[in-house]
Amino acid sequence: MALANENYIKTPEIYCFDEIEKRVNAYKILHPNVKILRLGMGDVTLPLPSEVVQAMHKAVDEMGNQDTFKGYGPHQGYDFLIDKILKDYRSIGVVLDKESLFINDGAKSDIGNIGHILGRDNIVAIADPVYPVYENATIMSGRAGELNEDQKWSNVVYLRCTADTDFKPELPTEKVDVIYLCNPNNPTGTVLTKTELKRWVDYAIEHQSIIVYDAAYQAYVNEVDLPRSIYEIKGAKKVAIEIRTFSKTAGFTGLRCGYSVFPLELMVYTKMGDEIPLIKLWDRRISNYTNGVSYVVQRAAEAVYSRKGKAESKELVDYYLMNASLIRTELISAGFEVYGGVNSPYVWFKTPDNQSSWKFFHQLLYECQVIGTPGVVFGSSGEGYMRFAGFGSLEDTKLALERIRKGNF
Ligand SMILES: *Cc1c(COP(=O)(O)O)cnc(C)c1O
Repeated sequence: MALANENYIKTPEIYCFDEIEKRVNAYKILHPNVKILRLGMGDVTLPLPSEVVQAMHKAVDEMGNQDTFKGYGPHQGYDFLIDKILKDYRSIGVVLDKESLFINDGAKSDIGNIGHILGRDNIVAIADPVYPVYENATIMSGRAGELNEDQKWSNVVYLRCTADTDFKPELPTEKVDVIYLCNPNNPTGTVLTKTELKRWVDYAIEHQSIIVYDAAYQAYVNEVDLPRSIYEIKGAKKVAIEIRTFSKTAGFTGLRCGYSVFPLELMVYTKMGDEIPLIKLWDRRISNYTNGVSYVVQRAAEAVYSRKGKAESKELVDYYLMNASLIRTELISAGFEVYGGVNSPYVWFKTPDNQSSWKFFHQLLYECQVIGTPGVVFGSSGEGYMRFAGFGSLEDTKLALERIRKGNF
């Protein structure tokens, strides 16, 4: 009899974003001819940079030619891409060992897969609210414990991230082993400063914990002196892995490519107290469980670093940032309490009259035909808040804001 991994049954049945679609579809059936405007989604909408497309065409031709055909590639990724990424890190003053880089098919895979190489008994800390995958991965890996009545897992330490903390996660007061940090934060759009981030690194050094640093939105950091990488903080290589992706920075959400950094200095411990470089375990995992990312896609990612590719990607990011800034300004002038939207595509705001997130979601949908993401889907501390994103078109964003301005809030 084949037994199921019951940790998977504990994980919420529908991924929270499907719930939004379900409700939008119900509305559409009743109102088939109404134009619905999406300000909620966490997916990009502009097409790939032309440099990226050209590089792929070229790579496809190479694959069809006897002289340039490529079979299995190096399991960490091709040097041509790794070298460009290292150079990009150097431009912000971060020098990484070449061996520490692993090309992957996007950030989400490694966010979950990192759990395979960490001990089952680790206590995991997660901000509330935050990107839901950290918690779901923790449940599926059997580390979450039991679900309490308040919908919190008994073995997970939730890091308060509320108006009191300026919607930045608060340092744990107890000892935790693994910390997921998302900076800039999705969904609150806030960014930890270098001084704030240093406290996390110091905490991790002191407690021999590790930080899984999700930098999916690093390209949106445009104010000076804010960190783009956790390795800008002294000592971070001893405690942090960094996960980045081309998804939100160059339109790769459908193409799939990202990378993770496992510094050689980062140690984990056996129960006997022996040190092991985490990268050794990761390398073992990668070489056994995957054969890497396709040659064509890695050539596409390489093109992001060409002069034109850089300019084109920056244009995408700037477009989304401009939308976010517009959303931010309009909501503020309409009297909402607003966070984020400056170094992030996300704008986080309080619902009017202390409505619940879902109640306001429905009000927005039925009165303005605008879709936001209810803050509560990112964690219970997100209740009473809403997330908008700058990923739509400028025209739709303006139209949505106009409807909200005319709305009765
Ligand atoms: C979008 C997103 C990801 C997923 O990135 P992929 O590279 O497309 O898998 C990871 N982390 C956060 C915080 C995100 O918002």
